[in-house]
Amino acid sequence: MINSILIANRGEIACRIIKTAKAMGIETIAVYSEADKNALHVRQADRAVSIGAAAAAESYLVIERLVEAARISGADAVHPGYGFLSENTEFAAALKQAGIIFIGPHATAIAKMGDKIESKRLAEKAGVPGVPGYSGNDQSDAALISAALEIGFPVMVKASAGGGGKGMRRVYAEQELGEAIKLARLEAKASFGDERLLVEKLIQNPRHLEVQLAGDKHGNIIHLFERDCSVQRNNQKILEEAPAPNLSDAVRQKLFERAIKLARAIEYDSLGTVEFIMDAADDEPAFLEMNTRLQVEHPVTEFVTGLDLVELQIRSAIGEALPYQQDQICLNGHAIEARLTAEAPARNFAPVTGRIESILWPCHIRIDSGVAAGSEITPFYDSMIAKVISYGTDRASAVAKLTHSLSQTAIFGIETNISFLIDCLSRDSFKQGLATTKFLEIEFPDGWPAPPIIAEDAAKALALWFDRQTIRREDGFASLRVTQGADLCARCFLTAKAAEGEVFTACLTSQGEAFSINIGDDRFDLSIKDGMLNNGHVKSHYSSYISDKTVYIAENGRQLQWSIAPQIEFAANTEKAGLGSGHIKCDMPGTITDILVTKGEEVAAGTPIITMESMKLLMTLSSDVAGRVSELHAATGDLVNAGDVLAIIEETS
Ligand code: ADP
Ligand code: ADP
Ligand code: MG
Repeated sequence: MINSILIANRGEIACRIIKTAKAMGIETIAVYSEADKNALHVRQADRAVSIGAAAAAESYLVIERLVEAARISGADAVHPGYGFLSENTEFAAALKQAGIIFIGPHATAIAKMGDKIESKRLAEKAGVPGVPGYSGNDQSDAALISAALEIGFPVMVKASAGGGGKGMRRVYAEQELGEAIKLARLEAKASFGDERLLVEKLIQNPRHLEVQLAGDKHGNIIHLFERDCSVQRNNQKILEEAPAPNLSDAVRQKLFERAIKLARAIEYDSLGTVEFIMDAADDEPAFLEMNTRLQVEHPVTEFVTGLDLVELQIRSAIGEALPYQQDQICLNGHAIEARLTAEAPARNFAPVTGRIESILWPCHIRIDSGVAAGSEITPFYDSMIAKVISYGTDRASAVAKLTHSLSQTAIFGIETNISFLIDCLSRDSFKQGLATTKFLEIEFPDGWPAPPIIAEDAAKALALWFDRQTIRREDGFASLRVTQGADLCARCFLTAKAAEGEVFTACLTSQGEAFSINIGDDRFDLSIKDGMLNNGHVKSHYSSYISDKTVYIAENGRQLQWSIAPQIEFAANTEKAGLGSGHIKCDMPGTITDILVTKGEEVAAGTPIITMESMKLLMTLSSDVAGRVSELHAATGDLVNAGDVLAIIEETS
């Protein structure tokens, strides 16, 4: 056994690997860039080594830095995670040279499978059919164009060195081809430093199916069943599950046989995944590519097999034989994973950055996360921040559990795709296990529409915020609710502005934990008790996080952020009772409904002077001093503005 592992990665996958290493009694060494100094993976590891600037090209992708970090920390082995250098033969070779174990397959397998052109040729030679297409050495425009014409449109133009869904273009007609080739080449060159392309027939309504493999250095190779990862966006997986739904045994057997055949052809000796694509109406899975590393969606396989894939990977890297034979591997139940990202689905999935203020994870479900309260989502790395993985005895219960768990999740401070994930899981086509890679296009043809923000949302935010002010007894509102008499304990005007820009102006009155909130023509009677929001006879759970004048609320996975602007500091007025200015001012625009005094009249402090209506509420403006009414600037029926002085009471001493 080895004593220590350096994890050449970050985020959720670094945390995931640390977990297994710790369980195996292996010391863990994290690496971190400037942007990740305080990251969760650094805090979870036993030790951590700084490897450079925030940009991945200056830290997580610099082979020499990582090898040096492993060397100075005395690491016995390096786990590369996924992405970054996980499929880089130079990295594997450099570690070997330094006498450090690379937790992955032998370098030749990485090299052969890292290249889509070469892996396709190799697969075909091994008797594993690929998607019909061109994977030739002649990379001239003419060669690619004539290949496409021969294949027949539509086609997919792909970067041979591609990964993560990049460098891929769908081409539907000959006249689009020239431009597509040009752009795919540029993208391939920029992302992978390699501009070679392949052309494939575009499968029109495909399912993405893949087989998890585990091998060792003793010539053993087994499969750990299949996964379906058809719900994708931009060729990137969003939902993944095991086993694949609605798949015939015949296709399933083809998948296993083909994956094993390919693995044997390259003497595969580690954990890996062979990806296939198959038209939903077809029964012939075609080879797409092989990933010679741990896959993002490995947890679903862990659930249905009961195995720890990272442990298997570590054990085979250090030369142990696979502890199981194929017939000892059983499949039980169903697991589904959702990739939780820092993205704004309603704004075409724009990635978002910022600080996570607070997180509430659901119970009874597996969360593989790389963040905690206080974590910063920076622009330097990808947007995936956690995976939520459910397990059930059958698919329907796994779907239900994942949906419910996501609805109980709250990540405050940044936007996430939680509501979008819930929406995907709730679609009939997904529930029936009929999703193909066209799922998003079909279900959300005009993009994902966020539910509109309505006055009721604002009312809830205001009630929560106001309630907290009283409990905290910290600022001007603190004494408000106990000083204003029995009937109308408090009344204040507030504006709630949603992060999305919507503004709602409200008049709130409170009595105990009950709030009556008027917004425009709507009135909301809400109360807050024992962590539940009562709306009429309905009580519901919510999660909230309040920081100064910012309110974050999550309800059923939908998260809103509000800025609250109180317009009157009531308590301040109350404290000054008897020492007032004598100026009767309105704090809200409204209509004068009555003038209760006449000019020259003597009034006591607290005497009602004027009544006005604003936002459907009748308000009484009283004198804050004892004195004589010296000026009256308003008459019944007048429209007045916030800040207008309506009357002046000259103080008598
Ligand atoms: P896997 O096949 O392991 O599930 P994917 O195919 O989704 O992973 O992604 C392939 C690689 O691309 C992964 O190694 C991952 O690190 C990286 N990747 C994932 N999401 C993104 C993203 N949003 N942008 C860029 N790269 C990503
Ligand atoms: P990457 O290395 O980026 O993961 P893949 O070759 O695995 O690239 O393809 C990623 C996704 O792109 C697939 O899951 C599938 O949805 C889509 N795709 C790839 N090739 C084709 C094809 N020939 N026809 C239709 N869709 C394809
Ligand atoms: Mg792939």
